[in-house]
Amino acid sequence: MKYIVVTGGVMSGLGKGITTASIGRILKSRGYAVTAVKIDPYLNIDAGTMNPAQHGEVYVLSDGGEVDLDLGNYERFLDIELTSDHNITTGKVYRTVIEKERRGDFLGTTVQIIPHITDEIKASIARAAGKPVDHGTAEICLVEVGGTVGDIESMPFLEAIRQMRGELPARDMALVHVTLVPMDTMGDMKTKPTQHSVKALREVGIAPDIIVARGERPLSEGTKRKISAFCDVKQKAVISAATMPDIYQVPVELEQEGLADVITDFLGLERREADPSWYRTVMRKYTGKVTVGLVSKYGIEDVYISIKEALKHAGRALSTEVQIRWIDAEHYTARDLEEVDGIVVPGGFGSRGIGGKIQAITHAREKRVPFLGLCFGFQLAVIEYARGVLGIADAASEEFGSGTFVVALLPEQKGIGQLGGTMHLGDYPVMLSEGTLAARLYGRSDIMERHRHRYEVNPEFIPALEKAGLVFSGTNGVRMEACEIPGHPFFLGTQFHPEFRSRPAHPSPPFLGFVTACRERRRNAPPRERQG
Ligand code: GLN
Repeated sequence: MKYIVVTGGVMSGLGKGITTASIGRILKSRGYAVTAVKIDPYLNIDAGTMNPAQHGEVYVLSDGGEVDLDLGNYERFLDIELTSDHNITTGKVYRTVIEKERRGDFLGTTVQIIPHITDEIKASIARAAGKPVDHGTAEICLVEVGGTVGDIESMPFLEAIRQMRGELPARDMALVHVTLVPMDTMGDMKTKPTQHSVKALREVGIAPDIIVARGERPLSEGTKRKISAFCDVKQKAVISAATMPDIYQVPVELEQEGLADVITDFLGLERREADPSWYRTVMRKYTGKVTVGLVSKYGIEDVYISIKEALKHAGRALSTEVQIRWIDAEHYTARDLEEVDGIVVPGGFGSRGIGGKIQAITHAREKRVPFLGLCFGFQLAVIEYARGVLGIADAASEEFGSGTFVVALLPEQKGIGQLGGTMHLGDYPVMLSEGTLAARLYGRSDIMERHRHRYEVNPEFIPALEKAGLVFSGTNGVRMEACEIPGHPFFLGTQFHPEFRSRPAHPSPPFLGFVTACRERRRNAPPRERQG
């Protein structure tokens, strides 16, 4: 097993996750079996209990792990399926060590950060690296250390990396440091922040082998030379990573910088030609454009990253650029809805903003605007139908606290007091009924999709809803998993989250169908004319 450890300097938000995923991609395109581990130095056991507005989307894995959004990037770039063990947090490490202490595993010793915590970190990395991906065990494992070098939180992890480096044969680990090269007012590239962050890394006993410099513009040869000299890294190992128009083009950029050969040479692996299929998928030209309104409490950037990417995958496959417009569920005007070619209501929790979301669904249903409701969006579509068509004016979800509960707590959730990691989570099979939109989109009747919810369509109301025309096109035998309105150009709600399984080369069927419908609508009634 070869390890590529990725650390970050200067500041957070540099795109370390995308860089890590892109390094994995260029190696995978060379036929290497690659896996990836994300280290998150926070005390939460997992990302499931964090506010997405602060930490970004909670990504859901097939095993039900609620993890950091970077695992979504790894899955999308590497086209693999990871497990909860691939996201190591301080919380998980300490929990394991403390459980061992209570069991008596360390009897007679003082339990300390070094060696007990660092040993557990190394064991966790090795365990995750050894888990099968694709069709066997990986040859290369990427390890991304979250946070910025110098943070107190990440110290034990960097110490564990330092130890690993000493314990492994020299060519089995490469250290990639991602930094920022800003520009001054004269347009000169400044290397000082990079020099300082490399110094901070050296203080904890680690020296980088490769430096990936992020910035608005590509590095000049002179700047590369300077970084090479000051940071003691070979000049060809100073890689320029300027901001790209699309994250999927970052591997193409790293490819052009020659990073693949630098890494394979460093690790003593053979140089190989890259398979061009990634390039073909992500460089496909757009010939048209649609605007999709995403009605939610939070802005789109990191909170709905999987939805944003799934729309992009579908758009790319259809040569259609998808522009997402964030529609704030609590403050929007009729015009906001009129100016979009389709409406998405994403997953969510709690009752804030539901009025606006339901109003947007009414608009989509009545004005025949393409609609995709995901999880909470599906539940709200059912509630909207109960209110608008069945006439249950106070139709609601039990989650809101009052009203007629057309959406109710899952029976197995009753009595659950502990909230971390206890939702209905991960991959579960769904059966689609023949002849429905959902079955047509997937081209099959048995599918597997990821879940993350506590509530379901209340079984008591299913017959009435069906009688009123709502079709439940997907079920798991007992629970309703998808709904649609026959005769509507595209109205689909899913209790599951199809966005988590969408990949650049295999877009998710509901998203593909939705973007196709948006394109149709724009062709037949471009937004400007619709405004009249
Ligand atoms: N809050 C809803 C539930 O728990 C929907 C969850 C979601 O959208 N992920 O069922």
